[in-house]
Amino acid sequence: MKLPEPMKNKLVGLIILLCLGLLAGCAVNPVTGQQEIVLMSEPQELAMGARYYPQTTQINNGLVPHDQGLQNYVSRVGHKLARVSHRPDIPWEFNVVNSDQVNAFALPGGKISLTRGLIANMRSEDEMASVLAHEIGHVTARHSVAQYTRGVFVSMAVAGAGLALSNSDYKEVGAMAAGVAGSLLMLSYSRDQERQADQLGYEYMVNAGYNPVGQVKTFEMFQRLHKSEPGFIAAMLSSHPLTDERVQTARDRVAATSRAIAGQPLQTAGFQKALAAQKQRRPAYEAEAKGDALAKKKNYAAAAKEYRRAADLYGGDGLFATKLALAQYQMKNYDQAMRASAEGAEASPGVYLPNFVAGAIHYKMKDFNKAKDYLGRADKLLPDQPRNQLLLAASYEQSGQRRTAASYYRRLVNQAPKSQEAAAAAYRLRQMGYKR
Ligand SMILES: [Zn+2]
Repeated sequence: MKLPEPMKNKLVGLIILLCLGLLAGCAVNPVTGQQEIVLMSEPQELAMGARYYPQTTQINNGLVPHDQGLQNYVSRVGHKLARVSHRPDIPWEFNVVNSDQVNAFALPGGKISLTRGLIANMRSEDEMASVLAHEIGHVTARHSVAQYTRGVFVSMAVAGAGLALSNSDYKEVGAMAAGVAGSLLMLSYSRDQERQADQLGYEYMVNAGYNPVGQVKTFEMFQRLHKSEPGFIAAMLSSHPLTDERVQTARDRVAATSRAIAGQPLQTAGFQKALAAQKQRRPAYEAEAKGDALAKKKNYAAAAKEYRRAADLYGGDGLFATKLALAQYQMKNYDQAMRASAEGAEASPGVYLPNFVAGAIHYKMKDFNKAKDYLGRADKLLPDQPRNQLLLAASYEQSGQRRTAASYYRRLVNQAPKSQEAAAAAYRLRQMGYKR
C-alpha cells in the first residue's frame, strides 16, 4: 500500500511514540519549559557526554598539540556564553581538536569541540563566539538528546558503517572508528533545530556582549568555503544544513539589533594573540595539506617529501611523521616506514592514530613487543576499535602470551560480533584450541 507522504510521516511518528512510551521518561526542556519525551534523563545525558567526549576528541586526532593558550582562550569564550545560556550549571567543556576540517560539534551534556581548521578561517572572537553559541544552543535545547532518542532506532545501522579517522586516503590501514562516539558525530540536525540553535546562539552572543555580525560573517565564510573547498566543510554542512533562509534570518536579526551592539567593532586583538602559535605553524600545516593532496593522487614519493618537511618545520605534531610512515609503507620502504611511525607515536603519545599506525607497522615488521606497546596505548586512548584489538591480540599471540591473546580475542568477539575482525578473532581462538 502506498501512503501519501504526510500520512506516512504521521504513521512513523505514531509508531515511534508508541515504542518510546514503553521505554521513555519525561523531561522538562530547559529552553521551552515544556514536557518532552526523551530516552535520557539529565544525569544520563551528562554521563553520556563525559564518556564519549574523550573518544570523539580522539576520532578528530586529539587536541591541537602544545597550545594550551588556545585551549584556554576557547574555553574562556565558551564559558562566557554558557553562563548566560539556559543551562549555566551543567559541566560545560570546550576544546580545539587537531583536524584541518572546518567543523564544530556538541555532545549531549555540554561537551563542545571546534576544529583548528574552522578557527583558522576566522578573524574575530565574535565569529568564533557565533559557532560556540550555536553549539551551546543545540545543547541547551537538548537537540542531541532528541536526536539520540530518535537515533537509537537508526544508529544500529550506522554504527557498523564507521567514520574515517582522517581525511587522507589511507583506507588500507583500516583506520576507522565506529561505535557510539562515531555515530554521535554523524547525527545531523533538522532545519527546525538549526533555526532554533541560530536564534538561541544569537541571544547568548548578545547577552555575553558579542556583535551578532559575527554570525553573518561565519555563515558567509561557510558559503565561500562550500564553493572553493567543498571537501573541507562537507561534514559541517551535513550535520548543520546551511540554508539561504538561515543566512537571511541572521542578517535580519542584525538589522533589528540596536546600533550599540551591532555597531560595535568586532573583537580581533585577543583573537589574533590566541592564534599566534597556530599562525607560526601554518607553513607546516600547508606542507601537510600538500602531502595529503599528493597522497590522494598516489604520488607517495612527493607526498613523503612534504610530510618530512612538515615534521621538520614543526616537530610537535606526530601526525606529520605518521602520514610520512604511511606514504613510505605504500612505497614498500618498510624500514623507513617503521622509523617514521615510531617518530609520530613518540611526538604524539596521547593521540590514537599515530599509536595505531606505529603498532600496525611494527606488527607487520614482526617487532611484536613494540607493537604491543603502541597498540595497547591506542586501545586505552580509543577503546574497542576492532582492527586495533585484533592486531593487539595477535601481537600477544605471536609473542607467546596465549592467555592474554585469548582474552583480547574474546573481548573482540563479544564487542563487535558482526565485524570481519571478530570473525578473524573467533578463527584464531579455534586454532589456539580455545572455546569462545
Ligand atoms: Zn547546528
